[in-house]
Amino acid sequence: MNILILGSGGREHALAWAVKQNPKCDRLIVAPGNAGIALLAEVAAIDPCDAAAVLACVEENAVDFVIIGPEAPLAAGVADALRAAGVLTFGPSAAAAQLEASKGFTKEICDACGAPTAAWARFNDLDAALAYVRAQGAPIVVKADGLAAGKGVIVAMTLDEAEAGLREIFGGAFGAAGAEVVIEEFMAGEEASFFILSDGVNVLPVGTAQDHKRVGDGDTGPNTGGMGAYSPAPVLTTAIQEQVLAEIVRPTVAEMARRGMPFQGVLYAGLMIENGRARLVEYNVRFGDPECQVLMLRLGGQALDLLQACAEGRLDQITAQWAEDHALTVVLAAQGYPGAYVKGSEIRGLDTLPETASQMVFHAGTTATDGKITATGGRVLNVTARAATLAEAQQRAYAMVDAIDWPEGFCRRDIGWRAL
Ligand code: ATP
Repeated sequence: MNILILGSGGREHALAWAVKQNPKCDRLIVAPGNAGIALLAEVAAIDPCDAAAVLACVEENAVDFVIIGPEAPLAAGVADALRAAGVLTFGPSAAAAQLEASKGFTKEICDACGAPTAAWARFNDLDAALAYVRAQGAPIVVKADGLAAGKGVIVAMTLDEAEAGLREIFGGAFGAAGAEVVIEEFMAGEEASFFILSDGVNVLPVGTAQDHKRVGDGDTGPNTGGMGAYSPAPVLTTAIQEQVLAEIVRPTVAEMARRGMPFQGVLYAGLMIENGRARLVEYNVRFGDPECQVLMLRLGGQALDLLQACAEGRLDQITAQWAEDHALTVVLAAQGYPGAYVKGSEIRGLDTLPETASQMVFHAGTTATDGKITATGGRVLNVTARAATLAEAQQRAYAMVDAIDWPEGFCRRDIGWRAL
């Protein structure tokens, strides 16, 4: 089987690594890929959002299966274009990707199917939104409706913050993504992520995880794309997973099918857990980054069978085989991230780290030039280990971090603290 993966981050490196373990995989191409991915797959310099270029790559290389990593190509309709051309594809249509691309859309779906989530209201006018937050009081959550790379959400502890957030969004800080605003009830509790494959009808859980959004130890400092993750997330007990499947995920999948936009791909449910019950914070329509790295290390080669069964509508005929293990990933980022950061510094010592089924350094923002690996992104490496206990996985991951010689980089030293 010839496989094309779209994307260039640590998530796609982990997907490529897992797919490559499966003997069914003949050729593996990643577009556009990165320096780490280039060590295990062919890379093709194409824009993953350019459907015509992706189709040409599929044709040229006799690709049998396309796996779409990030949300941008999904929202741009690349999965629709591929399926219309008869190409087996993992990832939802642009219509179904609204579950991530529009917060108001997700809220409507939740209301229509009775899924528990925060109470909400939607506005396209500043004055009406200001009047609403003043009537509701703080804490309250203000969100730009569209995709804003995680920056369009203001969890306001005071009315002043909520009002400033509304003025910022309606002032155009997020362009068209902020033409509408969703205002939500503040939910207290502990957050965790649950990943579920859906073929449009059937659903299959593929793991739980928790990430670490703040840049600093002890969850301090500004928000980031994620500084580390581990799987499984003990807070998502079997009972809560069943509640989420019964009250949130299955009703969502049924409602999407009823609307003629069946969801086919991975549903990433961001959940808030309080008093033994979960409510939906948000959906994403792709794997999390860095959560995918820990899920793939645990799943290994069977990931390809699962994604293929999902794309072929056969999720009722397959199950995921879990070892009783734990995986943890530490993000190494360039000094300055998430603000302006240094680019082009050299990373040494990677060649001293054996890459095995239980430890991998996934690359996120790297380039290879003249045999040297240099950092070109904010989040640069995902140092990932798997072991019988979370404590052991953590210890192994940090031992690998300490073997990497990169003075221009930094990481959090407390990934996993919540579960340990
Ligand atoms: P990201 O891409 O970073 O996950 P996003 O832009 O898609 O973010 P959300 O996930 O909806 O936005 O919100 C970001 C974060 O804000 C959540 O992970 C959660 O910590 C917090 N948050 C969102 N909604 C609520 C809520 N109703 N109550 C409490 N906290 C919330």
